[in-house]
Amino acid sequence: MEIQRKLLKTHYRKLKGIKSLPLKNVSPEIPIRSDLLSAYYDSKPYHQCLNRYGNSLVDLRPEIIGLSREMNNFPREVINIFRVTGKLAEKYQIEAYVTGGFVRDLLLRRNNKDLDLVITGDLENFIRALADRLGGEWSYNREFHTGNIQLSTGFNLDLAESRREYYPRSGALPEVEPADLLEDLFRRDFTVNTLLLVLKPDGWGRILDFFQGSKDVERGLLRVLHRFSFLDDPTRIIRGIRLAVGLGFAFARETKALLKEALTVADFSILSTSRVLKELRLLFADRVTPGLLRMMQEFPLFKLLNLEIEIKADFFRQFKELEAYLEYFQEKNYNIKVWLLRMAVFLEDIHKQEIEEWGLSALNQRILSSYARNRGILSRLNRELDPVELVKLLKGLTTEEIILLLVKSGKGKIKENLLYHLEELADREIEINGFDLQEMGLKPGPEIKDILQKVYHAKLRGELKNRREELAFAEKLIKRWE
Ligand code: ATP
Repeated sequence: MEIQRKLLKTHYRKLKGIKSLPLKNVSPEIPIRSDLLSAYYDSKPYHQCLNRYGNSLVDLRPEIIGLSREMNNFPREVINIFRVTGKLAEKYQIEAYVTGGFVRDLLLRRNNKDLDLVITGDLENFIRALADRLGGEWSYNREFHTGNIQLSTGFNLDLAESRREYYPRSGALPEVEPADLLEDLFRRDFTVNTLLLVLKPDGWGRILDFFQGSKDVERGLLRVLHRFSFLDDPTRIIRGIRLAVGLGFAFARETKALLKEALTVADFSILSTSRVLKELRLLFADRVTPGLLRMMQEFPLFKLLNLEIEIKADFFRQFKELEAYLEYFQEKNYNIKVWLLRMAVFLEDIHKQEIEEWGLSALNQRILSSYARNRGILSRLNRELDPVELVKLLKGLTTEEIILLLVKSGKGKIKENLLYHLEELADREIEINGFDLQEMGLKPGPEIKDILQKVYHAKLRGELKNRREELAFAEKLIKRWE
């Protein structure tokens, strides 16, 4: 409480001159009320910022968690990264922490190769020296004071600079003064992602936990830090759902209420579509499980793209089939854009014009909007078809578009035709070309195209096996021509 007051006081100092605060003193028991919402959107960013603290859902009660014994069981490569970074920080007389999902996953004993590091000093020199010691490719962004190191072992280090540090005093628990580092943490999505693992030798094996994040990890709870979190950044809604499903976590009571409320009242028209798509891409990189579908029924996250998408009961069947097909085709090394395909299942009624502004490539737009465009083909596929007819019907469709028709069709004959096309016909090509025909004495002209097409059709029907048979067939056609 004392610390929280200090935090507030500093902000009052920082923002002195502001007399009235439109959003302060909200009871922690109720989520945002709609009358407060308009105040939120009408207020200036610094008012919004100030009110985050006033509307905090966490106690700033720092705790230290000792992990040094468990650290002996961490993978050698991880310990090496920790030690090298910690020693370098000691040399530079700054602090270095691991934070974010990596620390959360350490507590959960889940493998993670993406480390977020925070350095309380000049990052540019630090990153160069660290990359040198760890032996990786590195980059640094001068504008944002962030950087990245890629190690050949597959570890990816994202580094950020936090100029001032919190100031620990002697005693079992660090006392905290508000500073940039703490503010950084306060801007994070969920408490479970706010843990700081100390890397310097004098704090080796300690986790600093300011917002009871480790308890939430233990209880499997996702909790936002303040009640405006989802309004500040609605992409946290998608992040939350991804974490909940991926980790098997639940939303804390107020967080759930705030998330629902944000989905009903937030203004998503000002949200950057590319940020939303980035999160959706991560969400749909993994299989769509019944658990995710149930979550999406409860939390209509496509609202972030200003779309009303109903999660129909049949989607459960469609995704069960889709995931089985994906596994099957991926084993056979088909190159499939899985996240787009999963998303396309949801967007069955969306036309290309509706997504033109999303900044996707023409091909990606086409895949996402393909079902609305191609669904008419399904009725024509519901009968015995000659391979040539089948290829004509599906001409120009990508593998993703055909798999989408497959999972949407749900019928025997249609499925048979689509699978036959995917597995047998889609890649079937002829081995001869126009030059072969000219060598047989044919003059350049429309006949060449015509004969090649006839050879192709015969090959589709399974009448020709190899180049030799194709040449013989072409020769017969030429003779008939003459
Ligand atoms: P994680 O690392 O949590 O498993 P991730 O790979 O998506 O998931 P990053 O995108 O690398 O994580 O983000 C690293 C950390 O930055 C997260 O753990 C989170 O604390 C924070 N973060 C990322 N995006 C946001 C956001 N939109 N709002 C608040 N914090 C965020």
